[in-house]
Amino acid sequence: MALQRVEFIETKIDAVRDCPGTKNHICCGYKTIDLIEGCPLSCSYCILKHYIKSDVIKVNRNIDHVINQVDSIIENDKSHIWRFGTGELSDSLVFDRRYGLNRPLIEYFGEKKRALLELKSKWAQIDHLIPFLNRFTIISFSLSPQAIIEKEEKRSSPLYKRLKAAKKAQDRGCFIGLHLDPIIIYEGFEKDYYYLVEDIGRILDLDRVIWISLGLLRFPSRMMDTFIKEKRRNLLYGEFIRGEDGKYRYLKSERIRVYKMLYDLLKNKNNGLFIYLCMERQDVWRESIGLTIEDTEALTGLFDKRIRYLYGGEL
Ligand code: SF4
Repeated sequence: MALQRVEFIETKIDAVRDCPGTKNHICCGYKTIDLIEGCPLSCSYCILKHYIKSDVIKVNRNIDHVINQVDSIIENDKSHIWRFGTGELSDSLVFDRRYGLNRPLIEYFGEKKRALLELKSKWAQIDHLIPFLNRFTIISFSLSPQAIIEKEEKRSSPLYKRLKAAKKAQDRGCFIGLHLDPIIIYEGFEKDYYYLVEDIGRILDLDRVIWISLGLLRFPSRMMDTFIKEKRRNLLYGEFIRGEDGKYRYLKSERIRVYKMLYDLLKNKNNGLFIYLCMERQDVWRESIGLTIEDTEALTGLFDKRIRYLYGGEL
């Protein structure tokens, strides 16, 4: 992995925020915890480098302050079972073995038993965390076909290692999450995604997958120039439209087709899977997976239902 300078900060600014979502698209009511700003994995499509201008990766070591903020949200707003994640401005696990940032959070959520912590990653190193994991931590992996990992996610763990690490977390008694995001349309992608779903079904216990998100590639307009300059053929293969939020997305008819294809493949593996779309419009939800979701509040309610179903009276 290329070395980027890491700077430690002890900040008292708010590190816990509502996931920013995007204009006129349905969000899932997620809370993000900013422990690290910047990511050394440098996926080709990552929007972070366009938002974070600095090459220095900032690591917030004021975990006590972060935990106080999380606690205040859980105590003051009991309208939902809140889901918190550290994977918004970096990868949740990439620095974890070196800096041990997640362990105090895992322990806090395990004692609190009132909300869930999601660690979202493409870095399959979890052995050091296994002894501390509890049912209130969701280990999640973003998954792509190996062909895409080799070209667009070069520094991250290969697919089989991500699936193996997810299985270890399941064997430890945790639920896991899966994120097929970004889904990329390239020549022959249907076949590769078919085999990806086959691998998921073969290696993982699907009854212990708490949620699966689907999100097709989307990016701010200025990234288009970078993709053209870098000759990112995989990323430029599909047809795009620029949305109200200024981001490029695949054409709506394509998005509906691909979501439906993946939804059906996954549901055929296990009909009980909870599958949601990341930052999509109401009509795309309805036409691809047949669900009428009015707004963020309605989707957050569906998550509550899912969590109560799996955890019973525990949460
Ligand atoms: S792992 Fe995630 S945060 Fe890191 S570069 Fe890739 S997309 Fe960006």
